[in-house]
Amino acid sequence: MQSLLDGIYSEIKPLLGQGKVADYIPALAKVDPHQFGIAICSNNGEITEVGDANKPFSIQSISKVFNLVLAMNHYDDSLWQRVGCEPSGLPFNSLVQLEYENGIPRNPFINAGALLISDIVQSRFASPQVAMRDFLRTLSGNAEIHSNPEVADSEYAHRDRNAAMAYLMRDYNNFDNEVEEVLQNYFFNCAMEMSCVDLARAINFLANRGYSSIAEKQILSADQTRQVNALLATSGMYDEAGSFALKVGLPGKSGVGGGIVAVVPGRFSICVFSPALNKVGNSLLGVAALESLSKRISWSVY
Ligand code: GLU
Repeated sequence: MQSLLDGIYSEIKPLLGQGKVADYIPALAKVDPHQFGIAICSNNGEITEVGDANKPFSIQSISKVFNLVLAMNHYDDSLWQRVGCEPSGLPFNSLVQLEYENGIPRNPFINAGALLISDIVQSRFASPQVAMRDFLRTLSGNAEIHSNPEVADSEYAHRDRNAAMAYLMRDYNNFDNEVEEVLQNYFFNCAMEMSCVDLARAINFLANRGYSSIAEKQILSADQTRQVNALLATSGMYDEAGSFALKVGLPGKSGVGGGIVAVVPGRFSICVFSPALNKVGNSLLGVAALESLSKRISWSVY
């Protein structure tokens, strides 16, 4: 494993300097783009890492996976009447489709879908923020994990588009809670800071039929795990999901903070971090590193 990661690292590192950090969230515009790290967590919990793998970063949309899992833990399949499971083919923050489709978001990994899931989680937990923080601490085995209030406040101050989606869903009677409160909880989740090592550990249950060897418990059933991985494969990479499937062929989720998590079912989970993004908002070095990984292990889910 170490020589696999060392090989990917030296192949991809020369790309540092390409791409652009997300600047639509002012607090993220200040992040140093010259960072690159990878961590792999095997299904028995062993970590292999390279580069900036222990540096915490803003997990952003990767939080949407954990938010969905929290919701799936507490609701049955009726969840899928409020949110779809089809790829959107549109940018993650598009409002257009939501109106065409009567306030039912296409999937839980676009912003509208994640806001809807946050609404659902809010109806179940007295403190959704504590629930998410504790869930991530348990899954990663790191009790220090926290949300960065500066990032969350910066997102809240620039919330107009996300707020528009939530109010539109409320107008279609597909939103139960106070919009502003749900937005604050959604941004709290996006502003969680974790390292590649934390995230590779936290996502490992998806590579292990729902069982987390870090938390030593079943997080989702094997069937629910299959559902989440299928959704990640079709909708986890913004509107690059198709070419990511061609190039990498693994279920994955990216965030505008520059992280990408992916799973090799039955074997290991992986997290790559490099803040400079490509045109659709995925980490430029992250996608290249995962492409190199999939070639080197000659394995994909397809
Ligand atoms: N907090 C970001 C937003 O809502 C998440 C974006 C992302 O990582 O895709 O715009």
